[in-house]
Amino acid sequence: HSVTYSSGNWAAFTDNLKSNHAHQLGLITQLTDDIEHEKLYFHIQPQVNLADRSIIGGEVLVRWHNKHLGQVSPAEFIPLAEQTGLIYKLTDMLLEKVFQWAFEHPAALSTQRLSINISALDLLQEDFANQVIEKLQNHHLSACKFTIEITETSIFQNNNIVHNNVRQLHHAGFKLAIDDFGVGYSSMQNLVVLETDELKIDQFFVMNLLNDPQSQTLCRNMIDLCKALNIVSVAEGIESEEILQLLLQCQCQIGQGYHLYRPMSPNDYLKLLD
Ligand code: C2E
Ligand code: MG
Ligand code: MG
Ligand code: MG
Repeated sequence: HSVTYSSGNWAAFTDNLKSNHAHQLGLITQLTDDIEHEKLYFHIQPQVNLADRSIIGGEVLVRWHNKHLGQVSPAEFIPLAEQTGLIYKLTDMLLEKVFQWAFEHPAALSTQRLSINISALDLLQEDFANQVIEKLQNHHLSACKFTIEITETSIFQNNNIVHNNVRQLHHAGFKLAIDDFGVGYSSMQNLVVLETDELKIDQFFVMNLLNDPQSQTLCRNMIDLCKALNIVSVAEGIESEEILQLLLQCQCQIGQGYHLYRPMSPNDYLKLLD
């Protein structure tokens, strides 16, 4: 069907487009500047063993506070960084900061691990794995203390560069987690081909666990799939005790969410571990 615009609506529509465009440009300008000056930082969200609620590690989440724009969500600026190629410098800067912090605070990794989000675009860079491994060695850290989280996209399908990078990271000792499993583009084949260590069930299914039977069925099946393939199951977005209990019944192994812990500053994370 067609939509007809009165001239007033049309003017509002184009104004909106223009201001949206200006908003995007403003974001890109500020982001470029702040990445250049390494102003982005990170928070950590603890991840727990659901059976006894002990902290097994944490997920590193990038944060950006800009002097003009205030706090901007990664859900907004990561896609923009990917569209503009800023993501490479962003990932590099963040890995540097996380490794440096981990080196300065050995307690962070004494019995726990850290999980870091990587863009699919990073994995398309021929030299990515080498650069990460070199950076890690420069900070005298062990790869087995780190998990790389990736969200699948269609570019993963039979892509040799991606597979080589993942293989090299694995070989060096990094673990691999598939993030946001079940929404968007996810492939069963990649669970095997990429030798996935962990599968993170998207929060969409977890949040709808109690009120949507279909989400519950899918959740159960994803957890069973993990068991069958010897992959660790991780549920994200746990917002209530009821949901946590249901996940325990399904034998989900690891969880994170506001009901357990919110993302926190690296200092607060250290205090919590202590
Ligand atoms: P993600 O990797 O799936 O991370 C989980 C997101 O869910 C985080 O949002 C986290 O703060 C939020 N979350 C955790 N528990 C709950 C809960 O119980 N309820 C709700 N409603 N939300 C919860 P955040 O920090 O805004 O990050 C959004 C996305 O941005 C991430 O999704 C990830 O895809 C991307 N991202 C974050 N940090 C980085 C990074 O360093 N590099 C890259 N490439 N992407 C990142
Ligand atoms: Mg993640
Ligand atoms: Mg996720
Ligand atoms: Mg997500």
